[in-house]
Amino acid sequence: MSTFQAPKGTYDLIPPESAKYLAVREAIAAPLRNSGYGYIETPGFENVELFARGVGESTDIVTKEMYAFETKGGDQLALRPEGTASVLRAALEANLHKLGNLPVKLWYSGSYYRYERPQKGRYRHFSQVGAEAIGAEDPALDAELIILADQAYRSLGLRNFRILLNSLGDKECRPVYREALQTFLRGLDLDEETLRRADINPLRVLDDKRPDVQKQLTDAPLLRDYLCDACKAYHEEVRQLITAAGVSFEDDPKLVRGLDYYTRTTFEFVHDGLGSQSAVGGGGRYDGLSEMIGGPALPSVGWALGVDRTVLALEAEGVELELPASTSVFAVPLGDEARRVLFTKVTELRKLGIAADFSYGSKGLKGAMKSANRSGARYTIVAGERDLAEGVVQLKDMESGDQRAVGVNEIVAELESKLG
Ligand code: ATP
Ligand code: MG
Repeated sequence: MSTFQAPKGTYDLIPPESAKYLAVREAIAAPLRNSGYGYIETPGFENVELFARGVGESTDIVTKEMYAFETKGGDQLALRPEGTASVLRAALEANLHKLGNLPVKLWYSGSYYRYERPQKGRYRHFSQVGAEAIGAEDPALDAELIILADQAYRSLGLRNFRILLNSLGDKECRPVYREALQTFLRGLDLDEETLRRADINPLRVLDDKRPDVQKQLTDAPLLRDYLCDACKAYHEEVRQLITAAGVSFEDDPKLVRGLDYYTRTTFEFVHDGLGSQSAVGGGGRYDGLSEMIGGPALPSVGWALGVDRTVLALEAEGVELELPASTSVFAVPLGDEARRVLFTKVTELRKLGIAADFSYGSKGLKGAMKSANRSGARYTIVAGERDLAEGVVQLKDMESGDQRAVGVNEIVAELESKLG
């Protein structure tokens, strides 16, 4: 081991496990790509003010979890703690919303950074795949995103997850509820910090994970009893559309998001095999965010799914992903001439799209066959001087153990027909 280790709260993705992460990212992205979402990539850091305004000054993310720093040039930046604010900033900057093609539908995949207390499923560097649909208020769009996330998880083989759904109201009905909740919270026995939170952002108190706080919240007023008619109708439409799609969900009247800009539809995907870090993903509508960061009114909806926790959820359910074999053919040359010939064959196979690898270094036959086994290759080609003199290589089927001679000039076509 070297003197250096990965920083606290981080971990490395290393083969073969790393293949699972790629597969999860791919599986989450596939339904999005298939539904009109275009890929967007933004910088790993932004002006700190974007997050302060876009995520919310009073959120844990901004007050406690952000990696903020000043550059040598004096710029105030922060490593991105989440994706939505950056994606919206980029869309506004590129004027995507002015192309007359709303909603702008985008998906992203990347690393996010939060200074958290590290635990299983909670890291300081983690990975998300996210989707945002910007500039349209349409219950079908909210439903689309929930259905696509459900499809992504199911395509991976996940079954023990639940979708929690709620509406947070809008700028008409939420303030009335906010008052009622505040009045209720002020009558509770809460610590000073929580009381302060109740003043600034009372909805977030509902999200408090401490059992003693949760107990006091049993009789808290519920937003659902305060929704205006428009919000009620909107929410009912979302519920009907996802039900019609065969996606089941649970109404969770106390579900709020940790971010200030969410309005109306809000949802979370939880997995029951993950202990306290149970949220594998979440999202909702954020009709107010664009204006908050200096853009025009652009009602939008999106989600972010956590890749790390999705991998943990797969492990908790014992799901084995069907990962494509990383190597189909492994070449074992015995001697210099065989080395040149087989290396050429490996290159040809690779050009045809067949995953092929080669025994490098000067291993003996035994060591090379061990590498062939480890590679997981279905076929091994072995050649020594005598084989080449006869114009053949030995083709070994690693599953059956059968071995036979195949002409040097036929081997590539033979493997192509077997594997193609
Ligand atoms: P939590 O309540 O668990 O802190 P969150 O509400 O902060 O989650 P979001 O900001 O909604 O999470 O991020 C979306 C998803 O990203 C989460 O559902 C989770 O899967 C993942 N995620 C968030 N923070 C972390 C982290 N520190 N480590 C690993 N995954 C994370
Ligand atoms: Mg969090």
